[in-house]
Amino acid sequence: MIGIAGAAQPDRYDLVILGSGSTAFAAAIRASELGKRGVMTESRILGGICVNRGGVPSKNLIGAADALHTMRHLRYPSVEPVDPRLDFAALIRQKDGLIAARLAMTSITPSSSIDGR
Ligand SMILES: Cc1cc2nc3c(=O)[nH]c(=O)nc-3n(C[C@H](O)[C@H](O)[C@H](O)COP(=O)(O)OP(=O)(O)OC[C@H]3O[C@@H](n4cnc5c(N)ncnc54)[C@H](O)[C@@H]3O)c2cc1C
Repeated sequence: MIGIAGAAQPDRYDLVILGSGSTAFAAAIRASELGKRGVMTESRILGGICVNRGGVPSKNLIGAADALHTMRHLRYPSVEPVDPRLDFAALIRQKDGLIAARLAMTSITPSSSIDGR
């Protein structure tokens, strides 16, 4: 089960959402808009593919690669290119920090009280 950080967990819900990915968030937001009480479940990793392995981390790494490429291959002959050093471990740490920050923004936390499946 996934709950709002610090909130008491009720034992009755109007909607049980399987998963905690983007689709689950859309369902949870809609349930909230309708005044319903929903709960997300998760059997693998909180946040689903988008946050953990999909768009968020991939675009972050692509952005870093793009910056590196741009600095090495400048389009303007008047500007001298540079060859910056890539600290790959630091890049991965930064990407992992971004994922953690994105999950923290949702204010949801794993709770062990209900099995995810
Ligand atoms: C590398 C990469 C880059 C991407 N880039 C983009 C992009 O730029 N833009 C874009 O729009 N999309 C992008 N996508 C696609 C996007 O990530 C997916 O469309 C999106 O994650 C789908 O969300 P979802 O909630 O439907 O599924 P998921 O994110 O897969 O979430 C489903 C969750 O449900 C859980 N689950 C499954 N069965 C159960 C069960 N029975 N009980 C409990 N939990 C269960 C799973 O563990 C999972 O966490 C990208 C994907 C990848 C791999």
